[in-house]
Amino acid sequence: MTGDILSRLPDHLVAEAKALDEGDPLAAYREEFVHTDAVVAYLDGNSLGRPLATTRGRLGDFVAEDWGERLIRAWDEQWMELPLHLGDRIGRVTLGAAPGQTVVADSTTVLLYKLARAALAARPGRTRIVADTENFPTDRYIVQGIAAELGLTIRWIEPDPATGVTAEEVRAAVADDTALVLLSHVAYKSAHIADLPAITRVAHDAGALVLWDLCHSVGLLPIGLDAAGVDLAVGCTYKYLNGGPGAPAFGYVATALQDNVVQPIQGWMGHAEPFTMGPSYTPSGGMRRFISGTPPVLGMLPMQDMLALIERAGVDAIREKSVRLTEFVIDLADEALAPLGVTVASPRDPLTRGGHVTLEHDGMQDAIAQLWQRGVIPDFRRPRGLRAGMSPLSTSFVEVATAMAHLHQILSGQD
Ligand SMILES: *Cc1c(COP(=O)(O)O)cnc(C)c1O
Repeated sequence: MTGDILSRLPDHLVAEAKALDEGDPLAAYREEFVHTDAVVAYLDGNSLGRPLATTRGRLGDFVAEDWGERLIRAWDEQWMELPLHLGDRIGRVTLGAAPGQTVVADSTTVLLYKLARAALAARPGRTRIVADTENFPTDRYIVQGIAAELGLTIRWIEPDPATGVTAEEVRAAVADDTALVLLSHVAYKSAHIADLPAITRVAHDAGALVLWDLCHSVGLLPIGLDAAGVDLAVGCTYKYLNGGPGAPAFGYVATALQDNVVQPIQGWMGHAEPFTMGPSYTPSGGMRRFISGTPPVLGMLPMQDMLALIERAGVDAIREKSVRLTEFVIDLADEALAPLGVTVASPRDPLTRGGHVTLEHDGMQDAIAQLWQRGVIPDFRRPRGLRAGMSPLSTSFVEVATAMAHLHQILSGQD
């Protein structure tokens, strides 16, 4: 069937897909993931990464051993430290962060709230938050809620939806009353990569702190938080870190800032001495103070397998393959799909493009419903966007070509 559908594409692009797979130094990693025949092409690794085959055994062993046998003793033996150990590992493998600055806890949404509030408390007297209208909804809603709660104003940057926020736009938006700049590193719709080091400098020049959302960049490209002097960051672990649905997020707070900020959800697990069960709250030193309640240990298991894989493959090699994958989608779109009215709504410059490509067409919503029925799975972004997110270690070039061939057939009305 794959052979048939690929005949819809120009021969040289099919040959190119095969050659790219053959020359792909990371091709063998694809076998490490769970695949089923019912999924013909998966282009949503940036929403929910595929499970790794080893995750099955890891979860089973956990039930039998760590949980089943060690029982409550495992809290002392390993689980109390897990959010910090795992945070350090995420920091080392993917963030360019030295130990002691990253913790795993909560959802991205809740951590955004906690870290944004912590940052604002560290800039008393400043009354403005800078954010952008193209950011993911939860980021915008959190900013709106905090502004209403604390009586602050929001300065909204309105970036070009097909690209994203620039350092110049941030420079024009910050002033000496700006407390916090909150932006995404890679835009969830367009895939635009913001200039993280330059924008961080611009925020600092104005005396503001910066909070980066790394949901669409962590595990995909080198980040370098320490090198850029970033203050705070959060990110997902169920996207390119394959942690599974609802896996907890991570938060990063630069060492220099940590002991000067407290977060607003004062729970016992962030206490300096949780088990003294004392009358009042004293925050722990270091990153533990950003934990609120009991850590979601089960949700921290699968991502460990992906971190090992990313470390083995290397983030630079992953980024290289990601650029080739997005380039190939754009080539397919330009040559095979543009005649059907499909346009590219992501940056064409690979230096400013993350791991996904958004393609637009008036009939996209209906086309995607048909693609899903065929086991071809991208996602839909209103009003007319198909977002093709290629997780580099689990996606092949032939898989991408197959998806685009199905889209071609559907949009041609010949299915
Ligand atoms: C996926 C994503 C989130 C998700 O937040 P949750 O609390 O995990 O649901 C937040 N921000 C951005 C930019 C995202 O891409």
